[in-house]
Amino acid sequence: MTKPIIFCDFDGTITDNDNIIAIMKRFAPPEWEMLKDDILSQRISVQEGVGAMFSLLPSGWKEEIVDFILQNARIRDGFREFVAFTKERDISLYVISGGIDFFVYPLLEGLIEKERIFCNGSDFSGETIRITWPHSCDEQCQNGCGCCKPSLLRKLTKPDAFHIVIGDSITDLAVAKLADHVIARDFLLQKCQELDIPHTPFTTFFDVIHFLETMEVRS
Ligand code: MG
Ligand code: ZN
Repeated sequence: MTKPIIFCDFDGTITDNDNIIAIMKRFAPPEWEMLKDDILSQRISVQEGVGAMFSLLPSGWKEEIVDFILQNARIRDGFREFVAFTKERDISLYVISGGIDFFVYPLLEGLIEKERIFCNGSDFSGETIRITWPHSCDEQCQNGCGCCKPSLLRKLTKPDAFHIVIGDSITDLAVAKLADHVIARDFLLQKCQELDIPHTPFTTFFDVIHFLETMEVRS
């Protein structure tokens, strides 16, 4: 069997909770909730909505926001061991995240190399926080993803690769549909069941390691 390539979400997958939601709840004026509802009902794209939410926050709050996230976010059990396992077995692992560089990189510091992380960027030079989009949709996607996971899969894939997607939410669904196997929790797990996408549920990254071990036995 060909080697798997793993695409792993960040918020709610590597971390226990969603960091953008946590930041907005703590720092943003009430308008952010309308933007969140507009994204969920698909009245606006994720890119538009997330950009608008962060524009509600003054750039000068950067340090406070990063401190808040570093104190409150929790990395899911087994993630360090999971990264070590993929290295031992020479399995490609990428973190593909709709999160923002200023909290994704500090939270993953010492856990996985920066080159393996793909997320949105940020610019604090203006009055309010401006999100930048180094991985926006390719010509095959019109969803305004912001960080486009299907586009990244197309870019990072190798011939005959076995694509494994690990995720938790609606923002992982499009890339999950392109995967050979999905490792899912929460909303994404429900969707995989409903749509008959081949999948395995997980709670910790020890479950993910266990799945990869049994998969290798079968190959
Ligand atoms: Mg997520
Ligand atoms: Zn897209």
